[in-house]
Amino acid sequence: MRSAVVVGAGIGGLSVAGALARSGWQVTLLERSDRVRPEPTAVVLWPNGVRALLALGLGAGLDAIATPLPDGGIRRPDGHWLVQPQALPADRMPVVVHREDLHDALIAGLGDRVELRTGVTVRTVRADAGERPAVGDGRQTFEADLVVAADGADSQIRQRLAPAAKVVSSGSAAWRAVIPWYRAPQLPTGQRVGGEVLGAGYRFVSASLGDRGSSGGSTRGGIYWVATAAGAARPEPPETQLALLRRWYAGWPAPIGELLEATDPADLVQQEIRELRPLPRAYGFPAGPGGVVLLGDAAHAMPPHLGRGACLAFEDAATLAGLLRESTLPDAVAAYDRVRRPRAAGMVRQTRRMSAVLQARGRLALRARDAALGTLTPRLINTAATNAAQWRPPT
Ligand SMILES: Cc1cc2nc3c(=O)[nH]c(=O)nc-3n(C[C@H](O)[C@H](O)[C@H](O)COP(=O)(O)OP(=O)(O)OC[C@H]3O[C@@H](n4cnc5c(N)ncnc54)[C@H](O)[C@@H]3O)c2cc1C
Repeated sequence: MRSAVVVGAGIGGLSVAGALARSGWQVTLLERSDRVRPEPTAVVLWPNGVRALLALGLGAGLDAIATPLPDGGIRRPDGHWLVQPQALPADRMPVVVHREDLHDALIAGLGDRVELRTGVTVRTVRADAGERPAVGDGRQTFEADLVVAADGADSQIRQRLAPAAKVVSSGSAAWRAVIPWYRAPQLPTGQRVGGEVLGAGYRFVSASLGDRGSSGGSTRGGIYWVATAAGAARPEPPETQLALLRRWYAGWPAPIGELLEATDPADLVQQEIRELRPLPRAYGFPAGPGGVVLLGDAAHAMPPHLGRGACLAFEDAATLAGLLRESTLPDAVAAYDRVRRPRAAGMVRQTRRMSAVLQARGRLALRARDAALGTLTPRLINTAATNAAQWRPPT
């Protein structure tokens, strides 16, 4: 039986560990935290992410927990439309899912064939031609035919195998929250959640998770919002961060004020936005009978402006699982590297263009941005949507 060690039980690690176990691999999943726990936020899944989950055999329960996310257009803080909402064909419609629901589905997908070891912080990796690949935490060594580094943006494994790729700040921070339906504001007729508002260095996006009062598969419905602001993450306690957000977004189109008012400090998740620059020189490192591969944010952490990181992690997992079914182990490691690097590089290029648009500040830059937004953003979003709609897992 072939064996794999997967490092990191985020969504990337959980999805690949389950897929390998279901294909008959013996899998050990190592996680540094004491508990495998998702953030209490949500995630937008584009058609590529959904298709990858289907290929991983995890699509069955998705309908029950996913809410379609129609295009809500882009407005300026004064309410002026920069990009009007447009009707999306079904094959381009993203969905939004509570991360805890997604996580439950991924955990269920592990079955009883994955040995999950929590409280293990991987610090070393061995990837030499003559020996089986291995990782260690300073006390124990975990050897296998294949090591999957799904240990996130700060990946220790990547730092050792591709040290030139550094995690750097993108110059902004994000705040997210899900306001559960029982606390969500009742909006007057004509006002609705959804879409995006774009100011000078500030951005606010919202989406509904299910319908108020609906009894779908998820009990975690509510209103999800993400606010991005130029500058560093704030060191103050959540109450102060929330007060700052309410000040920054005061006067922005309804229902932003109402949503921030209804948010509890305990709902708030703050995160510095970071990215890998440059991307790693390789995603596959041959060793012994197989090798080490980088997956998810460990391979291609990028700003979330196009909301693609998790979708790419699912693509990585589906691609790796598919290649391992079709080829010998060394061929699969080489093919994974060949296929995934250009794919991630293309997505990172699009995200960087979007970053430049979103981070425009100063009157001239803003005027140029607003003028360009009408054509540039739909083009960027369209390219990204086409890209997402066209992706297929290896057969
Ligand atoms: C504000 C924001 C909004 C986003 N929105 C979207 C969206 O709408 N759609 C989308 O597709 N993507 C989105 N993303 C991106 C997405 O969240 C990430 O790309 C995705 O979560 C990465 O998953 P991962 O499993 O690769 O890494 P992580 O989630 O970082 O998981 C890594 C795991 O490895 C563990 N670990 C780390 N180091 C070690 C070690 N040394 N030893 C053992 N374990 C270790 C960690 O504890 C963690 O459990 C967003 C990101 C942000 C910041």
